[in-house]
Amino acid sequence: MKLLKALKNLKLETVLVLYIIIFAAAFVLILIAAFFKSLVIIIFALLLMLADLVFFLVFYRCPHCGGFLGRSGGKYCPHCGNWVNK
Ligand SMILES: [Zn+2]
Repeated sequence: MKLLKALKNLKLETVLVLYIIIFAAAFVLILIAAFFKSLVIIIFALLLMLADLVFFLVFYRCPHCGGFLGRSGGKYCPHCGNWVNK
């Protein structure tokens, strides 16, 4: 898949920024949904958050060992110790 390949080539910082932006957007959406008391929007926002989390878990990984980088946020992989900036 073209999209999957493009996503795999994303820089780790980009993955992190996208994750935060989408999460924030979903959060705002939940606030809006609560204001309008719209269950449909709440469900949509929760699904968006879930998809965002999956995206983060799948792509925020060390390019060397494939280990999840989690909240390390650092420049080195906590699993193999390699430099993770692609
Ligand atoms: Zn690693």
